[in-house]
Amino acid sequence: MPQYKVPLRDIRFLMNEVFDYPSHYKSMPNGVDATPDLVEHILKECARYCEQVLAPLNQKGDQDGCELKDGKVTTPRGFKDAYDQYVAGGWQGLTHPADFGGQGLPISLGMVRAEMMGTANWSFSMYPGLSLGAMNTLQVHASEEQKRTYLTPLTEGRWMGTMCLTEPQCGTDLGQVATKAIPQADGSYKLTGTKIFISAGDHDLTENIVHIVLARLPDAPKGTRGISLFLVPKYLPDGNGGVGPFNHVVCSALEHKMGIRGSATAVLNFEESTGFLVGTVNKGLECMFTFMNTARIGTAVQGVAAAELSYQGALAYSKDRRSMRSLSGAKEPNQIADALHHHADVRRMLLTQKAIAEGGRAMLYSAAMLADKMMVGILKNDEKERLYWDDKLGFFTPILKGFLTELGFECANLGMQVFGGHGYIQEHGMEQIVRDARIATLYEGTTGIQALDLLGRKVLLLTRGKAVREFTATIMKLCTRNATHRDMYPFIWTLGKLCAQWNWLTTRLMLSARKDRDMIGSAAVDYLMYAGYVSLAYNWALMAEKSFEKLEKGGAETPEFYRAKIQTAEFYFERLLPRAQAHAEGMLSPSKSVMQLPIDHFTFD
Ligand SMILES: Cc1cc2nc3c(=O)[nH]c(=O)nc-3n(C[C@H](O)[C@H](O)[C@H](O)COP(=O)(O)OP(=O)(O)OC[C@H]3O[C@@H](n4cnc5c(N)ncnc54)[C@H](O)[C@@H]3O)c2cc1C
Repeated sequence: MPQYKVPLRDIRFLMNEVFDYPSHYKSMPNGVDATPDLVEHILKECARYCEQVLAPLNQKGDQDGCELKDGKVTTPRGFKDAYDQYVAGGWQGLTHPADFGGQGLPISLGMVRAEMMGTANWSFSMYPGLSLGAMNTLQVHASEEQKRTYLTPLTEGRWMGTMCLTEPQCGTDLGQVATKAIPQADGSYKLTGTKIFISAGDHDLTENIVHIVLARLPDAPKGTRGISLFLVPKYLPDGNGGVGPFNHVVCSALEHKMGIRGSATAVLNFEESTGFLVGTVNKGLECMFTFMNTARIGTAVQGVAAAELSYQGALAYSKDRRSMRSLSGAKEPNQIADALHHHADVRRMLLTQKAIAEGGRAMLYSAAMLADKMMVGILKNDEKERLYWDDKLGFFTPILKGFLTELGFECANLGMQVFGGHGYIQEHGMEQIVRDARIATLYEGTTGIQALDLLGRKVLLLTRGKAVREFTATIMKLCTRNATHRDMYPFIWTLGKLCAQWNWLTTRLMLSARKDRDMIGSAAVDYLMYAGYVSLAYNWALMAEKSFEKLEKGGAETPEFYRAKIQTAEFYFERLLPRAQAHAEGMLSPSKSVMQLPIDHFTFD
């Protein structure tokens, strides 16, 4: 397994130089405590924990997997101890309110923590990650009493949470949810039904598990309008902060999966389990959607994590392994052969990984600032402010989730490729990264569903192209302020053309979709990937702009760092960004070629 080293220099570059987090934090009521000193301390401590505790368990976790025996689920060796250290460090409550035992820091710091933990060990990080989803939901929608009883132990990390949406017959189409919730005289409900694929659904890390469950009341309307949200603990609370009787949430199986084997993916049977309504009857999906954007960004992190880890592994290997001579002449004539990283094709693979890991990180860190602002709306109880920033974030969410997870998987594959046949062998851990990364394009909404959300809902239906016009206007500001900067010219010239093209493509699709109803569905993934490549280009241009500024001012401590940024930006613009044009061409074709073949003719006989 590659030895993970947290790219702290790169993280600081984004936080302190490109996006100016210190000023951003100063401007927020919950950001004033996030002083540069505190942030630096958090970065260093988190990096230490990830490098020394979590990363060494990554491959072992894959080998051990999780086990269900005699009704009890055990996680891989070392996970419990690592989790206890996580709790002792107060990491779970980093961004949750002090009233419930947290530290109340901005949510973007939680994303930085998630990136480090996820790169070190994605399977492990899913346990606290899912719990954060449950905590977020309770923070906004639970009653005060529910918060006191459940949110405090969750924030302290003594208990963990899950999100139980999926059932055997439905994952994407939650309108089909069939789990029943029968009202009881005391105001509670009895829940009966089966949930599948539940991450962290059962385990041995905490004394209790709090399930957030979608279910349906007996008289509920059909479809998504009849779904309510419930809190169902594995053990009922004893009233003194501890656990009481078992609540009949039975883990009947663990899934055998392609990857993330250290993460327990459970089939859960609710057998008249006692549940408590969260929020309003039949408004369950709306409650769930409050934090959908942040949850999806949490999955986008997995793409960057896969790219980073695979890049680190491939880079180290390419320096050690020798093969033949470089086409432009021997680079290490005293050695038996040149190291792999002298060969242009290997450099292409490494640079692709680097461009996507670092550029993807920039995309995430920029979006996290919008999540911070949305969170301020929540803390101020200002629904208008929350919705404003959630909408802004909502435009980027499907791009981040869909595009970064697809490219993260590509990078994981490239890392394996750099290892040649050795990449396919378990010992090096490169194939594990591929297996682990694959799920990211599936859960939290598949790439196809993200694409429909972007093009169909966010761009065409809700904003009629305004979201694109606004974002491209932001990109054009970068172009304008660099109009006389010679070195920035190649970047801004290309970006300017792309901004015009993106708006034109959007209008073309809007017009075509009026006549051709399947146009949106057949164009959506191309549109999403196009949006991803342009967004990544913008972020690379921002990083190049900052790097030129640092070099021109003189006295930069690490000029080679800034030069590498500019050179990687050049690689991205010349070698990866042209892919956007293939997507542009593909998306404009009418849906005919996708839809005309009768379903019977898909057959082989
Ligand atoms: C390891 C793992 C962990 C998971 N963790 C959790 C968890 O913690 N909690 C939870 O609730 N769920 C969890 N899931 C479930 C996951 O979110 C779903 O599997 C996912 O949302 C897809 O749903 P599905 O599997 O039912 O696929 P389906 O909905 O059956 O989709 C199948 C295919 O059809 C496409 N499709 C479906 N509908 C449309 C449409 N209208 N238009 C175009 N294309 C469409 C999809 O894009 C996909 O390609 C997990 C799954 C896995 C494998």
